[in-house]
Amino acid sequence: MRRGRRSGLYTIVAVHSTARGPSLGGCRMWGYADSRDAVADALRLSRAMTFKAAVADLPLGGGKGVIMRRAGEPPLDPELRRAALLDFADTVDALEGRYMTAEDVGTSDADMTVIAERTPHVTGLAVERGSSGDPSRWTALGVQEAIHVACERVWGSRELAGRSVAVVGLGRVGGALARGLAAEGARLVAADVDESKRALAGALGAEWTDPESAMRADVDVVSPCALNAVLGAESIPALRCRAVAGAANNQLASEEAAALLMEREILWVPDFVANAGGIINISVELEPEGYAPERAEGRVRAIGDTLRTVLDDADAAGTTPLAAAMALGYRRLAEASAPPPAASLGAPPA
Ligand code: NAD
Repeated sequence: MRRGRRSGLYTIVAVHSTARGPSLGGCRMWGYADSRDAVADALRLSRAMTFKAAVADLPLGGGKGVIMRRAGEPPLDPELRRAALLDFADTVDALEGRYMTAEDVGTSDADMTVIAERTPHVTGLAVERGSSGDPSRWTALGVQEAIHVACERVWGSRELAGRSVAVVGLGRVGGALARGLAAEGARLVAADVDESKRALAGALGAEWTDPESAMRADVDVVSPCALNAVLGAESIPALRCRAVAGAANNQLASEEAAALLMEREILWVPDFVANAGGIINISVELEPEGYAPERAEGRVRAIGDTLRTVLDDADAAGTTPLAAAMALGYRRLAEASAPPPAASLGAPPA
């Protein structure tokens, strides 16, 4: 954690694990009441990235970056924003490659280009720079695949035509997801705190409502695509859907929430399984052959297979999907940390 010498703002990087490879995670520019909240957010999100990468079987660890704004203050003006991005870049560079950044809530691929002025440890640059570009549409594709598998489990068919989905948050991921779902014939309920998103909802023929009502809507699937901690002791009893699968990170307000959802026979797709599409796409950038969208698409669609494994494991063990996904993550982390088998060390000296 450093206070930027140009901007005076706190820039924070949390590295949760490098057991499977360098830690990777987006840079969030967000308003917090104080720096402890910002650090806590970075730590929580970095842990989720470790499990997201491990469950997706990527050669990456978990990390997260935060540029802290003051809660309630207006967005940074362009000059201060640039200063904050360069300060964040210095913090990233100080970790010498143990953390690689990417975009997240509040940052864009243009911001990554600014960060790249000061450090090479940045992914998700613009497509024109031979990079994988904005990961959001890939995250949306992965969530859509997760919704397909959830439908398969609950109704025995992955078909989305005629299914109803409430998309809560029509940002970069939620907007792309809503478009994809509409294209497959799903009936949509859409909500956002930003009224300007109403136009997109209208264009897709979605019913527009406020975020709280959307969470409680009488739909087949709820897809939280905005903020964390939306599933808790108050919101879960009010749900009327049969499945929840969305892009938002850390959707559960508490550990008990997963059990509460299971008690209510609502299938919850662990967020870090559903929303791995962005990081999977970025990981293709780091492959020896370089980035190729066709390879990325196949890898992102494989989220469906990962989710089937997780749900099969959960059924077999009688646990929640969260417990099964965590167990898969822990197994993969243990494999990465384990010493190599004796046979691969060569013969002992005579
Ligand atoms: P975004 O900033 O583009 O969109 C977020 C949207 O949510 C905005 O339209 C905003 O107005 C809306 N919103 C804010 N508060 C809300 C509330 N209380 N109720 C309803 N809507 C609200 O962000 P994004 O990139 O689309 O990411 C959305 C979520 O998905 C975040 O939790 C993010 O961490 C997660 N995620 C994103 C990616 C990615 O590739 N962008 C990858 C993995 C996870």
